[in-house]
Amino acid sequence: MAQKSSKKGYIDLHTHTIYSDGGLTPNGLIVKAKEIGLKAVAIADHDNVAATEVALIKGAELGIEVVPAIELTAYVNEDTDFHILGYFINQRDRNLRDKLETYQKEREEKSKKVVANLNKLGFKIDFQEVKKLAKGTIAQPHLAYIIVNKAENSEKLIKEFGEVPSTGEFIREYLATGAKAYEPRSAASPQEAIELIHIAGGVAVLAHPCWNLTKKDGNKLVFDDSWIEKLVKMGLDGIEVYAHRENKEDTEKCIEHFEKLADKMKLVKTGGSDYHGFGSAGKDLGFDDFYLKIPTSVLEDLRSRVKVEV
Ligand SMILES: [Zn+2]
Ligand SMILES: [Zn+2]
Repeated sequence: MAQKSSKKGYIDLHTHTIYSDGGLTPNGLIVKAKEIGLKAVAIADHDNVAATEVALIKGAELGIEVVPAIELTAYVNEDTDFHILGYFINQRDRNLRDKLETYQKEREEKSKKVVANLNKLGFKIDFQEVKKLAKGTIAQPHLAYIIVNKAENSEKLIKEFGEVPSTGEFIREYLATGAKAYEPRSAASPQEAIELIHIAGGVAVLAHPCWNLTKKDGNKLVFDDSWIEKLVKMGLDGIEVYAHRENKEDTEKCIEHFEKLADKMKLVKTGGSDYHGFGSAGKDLGFDDFYLKIPTSVLEDLRSRVKVEV
């Protein structure tokens, strides 16, 4: 009993549902959040806001605050992309909806090309299967999931990987930027992504800088903050400071680094597990499997950054 109540009062500002590459429906996610005692969640599906309305209703029913959110992909060039989180956006904003529709179409075209590349490389996968699996935004884990779970691919996979790989391993080898079946696609620039979020009334936050802007040199983490400075000039409001890296030690180092940077640059500090519940990305909902927890004060700081129209 005591242990259960000790979990209460925490939040998770970075989660995914079936409308991008998550495993749970919006309702399923809110029910799970209730079960583990979370006070608030933000569903930040990739380039998609379809979960928001349903989640808001379920959240109100179960007493969990749902923060309308999104995770936009922004490309700098073919080798570099960022994920920009938008919080407290108006999910019905026309401009946002129109843009998201364009991004969905572009993702679909890209996926068709990647499927063709995978076929050429000898893997069995059909675009219709991808369409069926992805309820909303098509993302790399959908393709990887089909490949690694299809019996016809086992022999080839075992030959190459030694065993059937995890979706994450397959993504790194075949689908990630510059990998064997990779195809670039056009997407928003960081400036456009930040503006799109602002126009929809939201707060723009750089997702997981500890992965995108941090390299590992042996055992040492090497931070490159030059991009954050550029993004701040474009209007970035915050950074996702409370996020994970491979282990506790590196996570602590990242938090310390980005906490200081955010304070210096007067950026809001957010945090979340990047819970997917599908494939191998992120941690458990509410960091249930990790030492890190996000207190409600983080949400209050974020809320204070919402620009109220007068
Ligand atoms: Zn992301
Ligand atoms: Zn994410």
